[in-house]
Amino acid sequence: MPFDRTLLPDPVSYFENHGLILKGPRSANWKTTTCNFHGGSDSMRVNVTSGAWVCMSCGEKGGDVLAYEIKDGGREFVDAAKALGCWVDDGLRQPWAPACSPHHRTDGQRWQHSMRG
Ligand SMILES: [Zn+2]
Repeated sequence: MPFDRTLLPDPVSYFENHGLILKGPRSANWKTTTCNFHGGSDSMRVNVTSGAWVCMSCGEKGGDVLAYEIKDGGREFVDAAKALGCWVDDGLRQPWAPACSPHHRTDGQRWQHSMRG
């Protein structure tokens, strides 16, 4: 399976990149934030270590940031893994797979353009 879980982005960076503001004590493993699934302002809990998330109000939940990407982005597993830069074929990161940083994403698009000719 070309999915490499170790390449998943840091949960805090991932959720903050999605516009979520994580609230709670600095030492707390679980932070409170907005639930984008039902629009609740403070019902989502996210685990900053594992990336697990659960909404205390509407019940949406997942075990990691990949599950969030699938649910929030409406993606298939493979597409979500590629979007997070965690899909690896033949032991090499595919040049067309958008990585987590905007810099790599730009490179990927450029590569696609050159392939289309
Ligand atoms: Zn919710």
